[in-house]
Amino acid sequence: MIVSKSDFIKSSSAVDQCPKDDKWDFAFIGRSNVGKSSLINMLCNRVALAKVSATPGKTQLINHFLINDLFYIVDLPGYGYAKVSKSIKEDFQKIIKSYILERESMACLFVLVDSRHEPQKIDLQFMEFLGENGIPFAIIFTKADKLTEKQLAANLEVYKQKMLEVWEEMPRYFVSSSAHSLGREEILDYIDSVRKELGDA
Ligand code: GDP
Repeated sequence: MIVSKSDFIKSSSAVDQCPKDDKWDFAFIGRSNVGKSSLINMLCNRVALAKVSATPGKTQLINHFLINDLFYIVDLPGYGYAKVSKSIKEDFQKIIKSYILERESMACLFVLVDSRHEPQKIDLQFMEFLGENGIPFAIIFTKADKLTEKQLAANLEVYKQKMLEVWEEMPRYFVSSSAHSLGREEILDYIDSVRKELGDA
């Protein structure tokens, strides 16, 4: 897919303030500093469409970017810096939870995971929460340029094994590097295929 147009539409502090749901949302989420803003900018071919932030967790806003006048890329607030309580699964920030559970036009949620790190409890629990609620998602392993091919393959294998303790199969996943534009075509083509499969929002 060629991105010929990307426009910032609005920042919303609640799901009922989001743009009218007549186009599909493809949303991006992850722990702060996972590389979400860089990835969104890379996908949209823009230097600073999404702010590459130096202050993790400061903004709690849902940002909608309209791509090719056809669909939205949605930048969700990061998770993982909020205090984790005993009932962790229920503890994802209210704004994230309500967006995920209530936004009817969300076609796919991309869960970003830093490819350098061991599987993190908060990410695994977040994906379990998605599974339990039937939310369509895919994983994006970010910052692949920071690893050798061998390290990357080893980390992916560890991740897959960990996921398979809970999941029947490894969810759809992508490997990305915003520094090298790796994964760009695959992710955009996937968005295109999901959009075509779903038809009009
Ligand atoms: P966010 O908090 O998830 O939006 O993360 P940012 O996009 O702001 O990135 C956090 C830090 O990681 C910044 O210093 C980025 O320059 C760096 N970063 C993000 N993506 C990549 C990548 O693909 N490769 C490398 N080497 N650094 C990255």
